[in-house]
Amino acid sequence: MKRYQVIAIDGPAGSGKSTIAKLLAQRIGFIYINTGAMYRAVALVHKRKKGNPVKIAKELNIMFKGEKIFLGDEEITDKIYTPLVSKLSSDLSAITGVRKALVQKQKELAFSFPIVMEGRDIGTVVFPDAEAKFFLTASLEERAMRRKLQFSDPRPIEKIKKEIEIRDRQDSTREDSPLKPADNATIIDTTGMDIEEVLTLILRELKNKGII
Ligand code: C5P
Repeated sequence: MKRYQVIAIDGPAGSGKSTIAKLLAQRIGFIYINTGAMYRAVALVHKRKKGNPVKIAKELNIMFKGEKIFLGDEEITDKIYTPLVSKLSSDLSAITGVRKALVQKQKELAFSFPIVMEGRDIGTVVFPDAEAKFFLTASLEERAMRRKLQFSDPRPIEKIKKEIEIRDRQDSTREDSPLKPADNATIIDTTGMDIEEVLTLILRELKNKGII
């Protein structure tokens, strides 16, 4: 069976991946998949019930309905974006069995529809043969500021910066599927750029490649 087209968008926390990937998918009529939400959902279940994280990942019944994320019948959209779940998702994402289970689910999705998939290892591990790969970055200051605004986070910016720094270090230095650009990814430093500017760059490249 042949899979549909895949556009991979990777990058560190707060690099604008989610915003860009969501808008891009809307504009070109692909389905948007947020793989970070899968790792976060595993962390949420583990936080509640403890238990074996690999089993939790294998049994994860996550569904994306528009902007909302569900675990079975329960809407978890807001519950997975807390500082505790962020840190725990990064801790658990280093476990190979957890990654294997989620990567398999991610791969299967491309047999149902064309996708824009965002994460840390989409271009390197999940879809090394993706039709297009982008790696978004931005300065730590700007990424922390975006997070603060996006989640109306009342905590001091220095605290948010520190948290992002720790998670990025952990994500880039883990042994299994570390955060890094694929060799053939287009790297976009979005510092000082607005959303439309980033989208324009990506759409231009997709046109050049004949994907849209
Ligand atoms: O993208 P987001 O910040 O929501 O991801 C939460 C955590 O999930 C990341 O810090 C990372 O540890 C993990 N993750 C991952 N691989 C992905 C997506 C997310 O390891 N493809």
